[in-house]
Amino acid sequence: MRQSQLFTRVSRQVPKDEVSKNAQLLIRAGFIHKEMAGVYSFLPLGLRVLNRVIGVVREEMNAIGGQELTLTALQEKSLWEKTDRWDDRKVDVWFKTCLKNGTELGLGSTHEEPMTRLMAQYVNSYRDLPLLAYQFQTKFRNEMRAKSGIMRVREFIMKDLYSFARTEEEHAVLYASVRAAYLRIFERVGLGKLTYATFASGGIFSKYSEEFQTVSEAGEDLIYVDEASGQSLNKEVLSDEVLADLGIERERLIEKKSIEVGNIFTLGTRFSDPLGLKYRDENGQEQSAFMGCYGIGPGRVMGTIVETLSDEKGIVWPESVAPFRVHLLSLGQNERANIIYQEFTAAGIDTLYDDHDASAGEKFAESDLIGIPYQVIIGKKTIENGEVEIKRRENGLVERVALDALVGYFQKR
Ligand code: ATP
Ligand code: MG
Repeated sequence: MRQSQLFTRVSRQVPKDEVSKNAQLLIRAGFIHKEMAGVYSFLPLGLRVLNRVIGVVREEMNAIGGQELTLTALQEKSLWEKTDRWDDRKVDVWFKTCLKNGTELGLGSTHEEPMTRLMAQYVNSYRDLPLLAYQFQTKFRNEMRAKSGIMRVREFIMKDLYSFARTEEEHAVLYASVRAAYLRIFERVGLGKLTYATFASGGIFSKYSEEFQTVSEAGEDLIYVDEASGQSLNKEVLSDEVLADLGIERERLIEKKSIEVGNIFTLGTRFSDPLGLKYRDENGQEQSAFMGCYGIGPGRVMGTIVETLSDEKGIVWPESVAPFRVHLLSLGQNERANIIYQEFTAAGIDTLYDDHDASAGEKFAESDLIGIPYQVIIGKKTIENGEVEIKRRENGLVERVALDALVGYFQKR
């Protein structure tokens, strides 16, 4: 894409009403637009990143047999009354509205109820289970605090997966497969080293749930980590009893601030019982399906990447989620850069081409702020020598590459 055609502009001004680093950088670099507190739109660059995060999550969910669908945001009151979750004291983030005839409706903040009711229509026999269903779907949450940029918003896309098993033992197998997929996802998006599967309070059917917590000063959570074993637990569950149960020694734990990027939960029959999700087992007996739920917020993941991997110059996108792979910077050499851009495009090298009329200094500063992994710099001197410079955003290392080897350089990687 030619940067001159991009309607967004990079700004030097730090937005005054933003306290979080992710919102400041993403707004300045033109990835997102603030509509109001806790509500952001994704602009062309931002949507590319969000879609790439979603792509990684989707690949991993499909790889474990997840079936993708989309449920509606509009929710019926009567359905949520069946599980006693319509009441605002039970779910305190509801946005509610009503039809013209006065019938109350809610905007879904999560989807256990509609997903369970849906499956009740399709699941009859033990042969219909197990199954995994998931979606990327817009959630609405009337959150109290909205100071963390795109990490805590009132409208956001969530990947929510639901597992339906015949027995608790079968559930354990599904749970382990999703857990492993989550670890792969955080590894792939560049957060692997900073992210811990963390024990947190469970529910009725399991002692613990697990949160995937990324260590960051911008986090709203506190976790305790045993770095030697990699074990981690949320402050909310920290007690002598839990430590003994998990075999963790208190002295080894280090307190860290962290961001919850995902979580996984055993639901048991909490929803299948009241909503009638039953199957007939091999002996013809009716049984309730045993469920789990598994969430990730791709926008929160994107914000977390900005919080944890950026430097004093700006954002540093890992290649797996970068809006483009290459930022082609023409330093007054558009004639030559046009040709290279065409070659890159023909070779399928995803390129943002800075064809603007601006100084080299401005272009470097803007490019560092945007954070694309490779900067290919087309300057007068190097071109005369038949070369270009390639700078890695991640570490600032510069290489010279011959013009005729340039396309090959990116195709080899
Ligand atoms: P938190 O404890 O941070 O409020 P939660 O426990 O309510 O989150 P879930 O309901 O399990 O979170 O949601 C699953 C995932 O969705 C979270 O792990 C997070 O990645 C994302 N998420 C939750 N709330 C928000 C939000 N307000 N804005 C953006 N992403 C969110
Ligand atoms: Mg939580």
